[in-house]
Amino acid sequence: MKAVLGIDWGGTYIKAGVVNYRGKIEKKLTFTSKNLRQKEVFIQELKRLIKELKEFSISGVGIGAPGIVDTKKGFIYYLPNVRGWENYPLGRVLRKELKIPVFIDNDANMFALAESRFGAAKGLSPAICLTLGTGLGGAVVIDGELLNTEISAQELGHVPIALAGQKCACGSRGCIETYTGNKRLLRRYKQLKSTKHKNFDVEYIFQRALKGERAALIVWGEFSFHLGKFLSGMINLFNPKAIILGGGVSGAFKLFKPLVLKTIKENSMWPNLKGLKLLKAKLNNPGIIGSALLVKDKLASV
Ligand SMILES: [Zn+2]
Repeated sequence: MKAVLGIDWGGTYIKAGVVNYRGKIEKKLTFTSKNLRQKEVFIQELKRLIKELKEFSISGVGIGAPGIVDTKKGFIYYLPNVRGWENYPLGRVLRKELKIPVFIDNDANMFALAESRFGAAKGLSPAICLTLGTGLGGAVVIDGELLNTEISAQELGHVPIALAGQKCACGSRGCIETYTGNKRLLRRYKQLKSTKHKNFDVEYIFQRALKGERAALIVWGEFSFHLGKFLSGMINLFNPKAIILGGGVSGAFKLFKPLVLKTIKENSMWPNLKGLKLLKAKLNNPGIIGSALLVKDKLASV
């Protein structure tokens, strides 16, 4: 059976899936280790994985990397949360080691590609697909294709929405992800509750809001306002048919959807809102499926 290997690489984990040409995962494997931050360990693990999967006829490997990549060469510029990978020609090294084609792109791009081909945005174009978690990642997909840029650009989380906003991990100020990231939500909740209590997560704030707790409702209200403002700009730029929200924070989708829609309606140019859908992401392993699609597309274009 012809298949490709799709890899969702999170720095300390590898989620790998053998994906057939219809986009179905035939076999899934997950590894977690802090050592995967080291180049040598990461490369050896992939070599071992390819050997282990020799029962499948794997025609290529696709990797969704947690950082900025030259997508043509598979060259890693840097990974914001994993040190030691700056300016590393991972694609070239892996092609030599694994002896099969290897393609690398940004992980949020892979999420967007998968959701637009097989997930919530299927048949809806343009689609803006966002992952809401520690940061905000995502991409605009037009007719099932990502923008064909040399660098895995589309860093949507680093669009500034406030000129003198908070400092962002990217070095700039006021980026949208400093308003929607889970750290911000936890910090704001703590501030409003004046508590030193540490044992809560975003899911807890969601549950508290469902019970009508004031502090939790304020947190989600602010989150929705900022996200809605940002999306209004995106809507005016791209006139999307769908906005897809995934990632850990999207667990609270049913709570913030009406609030985000309200801000969008108040801030976008109304003709752009015709037929627009705001939907929750649908796929279980979009990182794996997107990375597999990357390989399939690249191999077809050779
Ligand atoms: Zn930023």
